[in-house]
Amino acid sequence: MRSISIFGATGSIGESTVDLIRRGGGAEAYRVVALTGARNVARLAEMARELRAEVAVVAHEAELPALRDALAGSGVEAAAGAAAIAEAADRPADWVMSGIVGAAGLVPGMRALRHGRTLALANKESLVTAGPLLMATARVHGATILPVDSEHSAVFQALTGEDAGAVERVIITASGGPFRDWPLEKLAEATVAEAKAHPNWSMGSRISIDSASMFNKALELIETREFFGFPPEMIEVLVHPQSIVHALVGFRDGGVMAHLGPADMRHAIGFALHWPERGHVPVERLDLARLGSLTFAAPDAARFPALRLAREVMEMRGLSGAAFNAAKEIALDHFMEGEIGFLDMAAVVEETLARLAGEAGLGHSATGLDDVLAMDHLARVRAGEAARKMKEGR
Ligand code: NAD
Ligand code: MG
Repeated sequence: MRSISIFGATGSIGESTVDLIRRGGGAEAYRVVALTGARNVARLAEMARELRAEVAVVAHEAELPALRDALAGSGVEAAAGAAAIAEAADRPADWVMSGIVGAAGLVPGMRALRHGRTLALANKESLVTAGPLLMATARVHGATILPVDSEHSAVFQALTGEDAGAVERVIITASGGPFRDWPLEKLAEATVAEAKAHPNWSMGSRISIDSASMFNKALELIETREFFGFPPEMIEVLVHPQSIVHALVGFRDGGVMAHLGPADMRHAIGFALHWPERGHVPVERLDLARLGSLTFAAPDAARFPALRLAREVMEMRGLSGAAFNAAKEIALDHFMEGEIGFLDMAAVVEETLARLAGEAGLGHSATGLDDVLAMDHLARVRAGEAARKMKEGR
């Protein structure tokens, strides 16, 4: 029986993963080791009972008594805190879903890799903040990373059986989000509710807002660079409002392999769950005749500065990804709190990167996780200062 753990089980990716596990036979078919969540104790306990998990871990320590109560009599262990989440990653499991949102996903993913596990990686922030360390850890410990971001799963699938040396370009698509056609003046006034309303995908609120600002695509550019190792000039973004083509890989003979699928994360999660086989996945089948047409356009760098900032990070590498991601997370917090405007998010990130470049230097490589976490911390402090300054200036 295959054993699995799901980090971020109560989130959008986590729920989709649980759905596939349940449809695949649940506790009868899989040995479920660890399930983790941040706050939603009731839902975490419910899924832990249903899947007969070994342990359920909640990130906030104050929730431990509530989790214990909710699990009373179930035989599921309860634990709490960031350290307990990291320890849960030490428990033997064949397949581990990294579905926590933000830099908090880095440590548990890294711990799972050190044990040589197969890591289904939805947490793109791990690759953005610590790409070289993550990839080296997987190599050294014989672990496997399977990309779960839809575009990266698509590139992975288009590359299967191909010679990576014959690749000329990699194109990841972007829906353009809810603000695809909004003029700059209107973007400045965009609200949280408007930014959360993604036209095609149903996702957690943070990644939905990141899609509206194209910070999500910015993270994905860096993720592509770090995971597949292609140089920045080979990686392109293409706006494709229907979200049917997820990525394309162009080869030196001019041929292009495109990956198509419905906008349902269960495809990419299911691909990783069944890999290297192709199992049955219950997503809607494409009906291209009904869709009629697929359209494409170049992204607008002026309205979406996140893409330009990502290019700088892809060139600089070193600790710039950790700074970029942390600054973005803080800017997003401040936008969600209504303290800064939609366009201020990119301004906060840009100012933070500029300040840190002068102050700490961003180009040098991390020698270990501590360097990454220290830069993450410093960038959060600086981004907080930049956001407060921007708020006062509004
Ligand atoms: P979400 O907000 O719906 O869920 C996040 C999960 O992480 C929840 O279980 C939450 O409880 C947990 N969590 C949040 N903060 C935590 C912390 N500090 N410590 C421990 N756990 C914490 O997010 P999501 O949309 O499922 O996204 C998860 C990851 O997958 C992100 O990295 C996102 O970029 C990536 N991703 C998501 C989608 C999607 O369709 N949702 C698609 C591609 C990639
Ligand atoms: Mg994606």
